Amino acid sequence: MVLVRKASMSKNINPITLGCMNGFKPDPRLTVSEWSDTFRILTSEASAEAGRWRTDRTPYLREIMDEMSPTSSTQQVKVIKGTQLGFSSIADNIAMCYLDLYPCPILYILPTETLAKGTSRRRITPSIKAIPHLAKKVIGGKSKDDVGEVFSKAVAGGNLTFGWSNSTSSFRSFSARVVILDDVDGYGTFGEGDVMELGKARADAFANKKIYINSTPTIASQSSIETEFEDSDQREYEMPCPECNQYFPYKWEYMHYKVDEKGRLDGDVLCGCPHCGAMIPEYKKTNMMLDGKWIPRNAGHQHRGYKLSSLYSPVGWLSWNEVADEFIKAHKLMLTGDDRLMQVWANTRDARAWKPKLDGVEITNHHERVEDYECEVPNEVYILTAGIDTQDDRFEIEVLGHGKNGETWSIDYKVIAGDPQFDETKEALDEYINRTFEREDGTLMKIYAKGIDTGGHRTKTMYDYCKHRATQLVFAFKGHNQVNAPITSKTVDNMRANDLTLFTIGVNALKDDFYARLAITEHGHNYCHFPNKPVYNDKYFKMLTAEKRDDKGRYVKVRLRNEALDCRVYAMATLTVAKIDVNRLPKPVLYIGEMDKVKTVSASRKTNTYIEPSSYLDEF
Ligand SMILES: [Zn+2]
Repeated sequence: MVLVRKASMSKNINPITLGCMNGFKPDPRLTVSEWSDTFRILTSEASAEAGRWRTDRTPYLREIMDEMSPTSSTQQVKVIKGTQLGFSSIADNIAMCYLDLYPCPILYILPTETLAKGTSRRRITPSIKAIPHLAKKVIGGKSKDDVGEVFSKAVAGGNLTFGWSNSTSSFRSFSARVVILDDVDGYGTFGEGDVMELGKARADAFANKKIYINSTPTIASQSSIETEFEDSDQREYEMPCPECNQYFPYKWEYMHYKVDEKGRLDGDVLCGCPHCGAMIPEYKKTNMMLDGKWIPRNAGHQHRGYKLSSLYSPVGWLSWNEVADEFIKAHKLMLTGDDRLMQVWANTRDARAWKPKLDGVEITNHHERVEDYECEVPNEVYILTAGIDTQDDRFEIEVLGHGKNGETWSIDYKVIAGDPQFDETKEALDEYINRTFEREDGTLMKIYAKGIDTGGHRTKTMYDYCKHRATQLVFAFKGHNQVNAPITSKTVDNMRANDLTLFTIGVNALKDDFYARLAITEHGHNYCHFPNKPVYNDKYFKMLTAEKRDDKGRYVKVRLRNEALDCRVYAMATLTVAKIDVNRLPKPVLYIGEMDKVKTVSASRKTNTYIEPSSYLDEF
C-alpha cells in the first residue's frame, strides 16, 4: 500500500528546524489524525458510535493527534479534560499509528492492571483486527483469531507494551520512544516515587521522544494533570460566533438556562456569545467546532497543553441540557453541605480540579450548634472512643459516640491538669477513661478504645503508659502532617521490642474528613452532634475550627489553641485503628469485653480484651 500525503497538509512543517532540534529526520508520511481518518475503524466493542473514524466529528482532537505525530517537534502533550469527548480513542490512535507506520517501543500506562488488560482486550485488540494490514504485522497470539499478547503487541521494529501505575515493576525497566500516560489522576502514589515522573523518564533515551499525558482532574493541589497543564502553553478551543464571527471558548458561565418552580431544568440550555450577546442553540455546535482553533494562554511554552470541558461533547453524545441537569442536582445537594456531587461535576464535566470547601469551617454562634441530649449518651450511639491530647501541663480528652452512617455525638470534653509524667496526673486520666457514661435506657457504657498523642515532650512517659494498658485498648499515636499520609500506618519497628505498637496517624486526611462532616448542617449521615453542656462553649468551637487548609492542602493554625481538633481526629482515628465498622454492629458495645457477645459480622479476633498487634497491623 502506498501512502500519499496531501501537500496541503504539510504546509506547517519545517523539516529543517525539526531535524536540527531532534537530531532525526522527520517522517514525511501521515500524521496521527490522517492515519486515523484513513484506517481507523471504531468497533462496537470499543465505541458507542461504531464505524469509520472521522476526526471531523471531534475536530478539537485533530491538533492534539498531530502534535503527537513524528512531523511535530513537540515532545510533551498534556490534556486536562471532561468526559464524553473521545480522548480515550486518541490514545489508542496514537499507539496504533506508530505501531503501523513508525514502529518503535511504545509504552501505554494505565492506573491498574485491570484497566490495562481491559484497554488491551476490549479496545486495542479488536481495533487492530479491524485493520487487516496492521493485524498481519502483529506477531504471535494464542489463537489464529488473536493478535499479539495481552500486554504486548509486537511488530517488526517495534512493540506496544502496557504497564500499570500501581506496580511500577510492570514498566520500570522499559525504554520507549512513545509514552502514553492515561488517566494520570487515577495513578495515586504507591511509595515507589512519583509514578508520573518514572513513566516520563522511560523516554529519556530517545531524542525524538513523544509523551502524551491525559486525565480528568480530581482534587486541586493533588491533581497531577492540573500540575502538568500548568506546565504547558495552556490552550483553549475557540470557535467563531455564528452571529458576530468573533472567537470564544465554551465556558459554563456563558450557558443560560431556566429552572421551573420545582427546581428542574426548564427548556433548552443556550450559549450566550460573550462578544455580541447572541443566544446560540446547541445544534450550531457542530459547525462552530469545525471552524475552531486552539489558542494558547501561555504562549511560547515548549509543552503543549489542552483543556476541554464536556460542553464540547459532539451533538448526540452528551448534551448541554444533561450537563446543566447534573449541575442543578449537584448544586441542590451542595446547599445541604454535601459537595461530593459537585466535585464529580466539576471534574468530569467542567474539566476543573475541585477546590474543596475545606479551606476552613467557622462556627460563630455555638448556641446554634449544640443540642439537648436526653441523657449523657443518646440511644443512637453504638460505641464510644476517646482521643487524648498530651501537653506538658495537662491532658485534654474528648469522648466521642459513634452512630450508624458516620453520624457522631460528642459526649464529653475534659481537661486534666498536671504534668503527664507525674503519677497522679496519669491516675486521674485512668480514672476518667475508665468511668461510665449513662445511656437513655439507664444502662452504663464505657469507652471502648482510646488513642493518645505521644508526640511532644512527654513521649517516653506516654509510651510506658500505653504499653501497660494495651489490654484496655489504649493506643499510642503519633501525628503525621504530610498531606498524603494514610489515616493509620504501621508501627515504628524499634517500638516492637518495647512491646509497644506506635500508630502513625495521617492527621491531614482526618481533618479533611472531619471538616467536611462539620460543614454538614442537616442531622443524619456524617452529622456531628454537640451536647448543650458548659464545656461545649465558644472557646471549644474556636479550638475545633482553629486550623485552615492552605493551597497546598496542608492544615495551618489560625488560632493558638487547637487541642479540641486534635482530640477529635484522634477519637476518629481510634475507631479505625480498633477496626470497628459501626454499621455492622447489631447493638451497642457497652464495654470492651462485650465485643465478643456483640459478634460483629466482621469480627474474627480470638479474644476481645487483647488484640495481638500482628493480627491487625497487617491490614494497614
Ligand atoms: Zn457573537
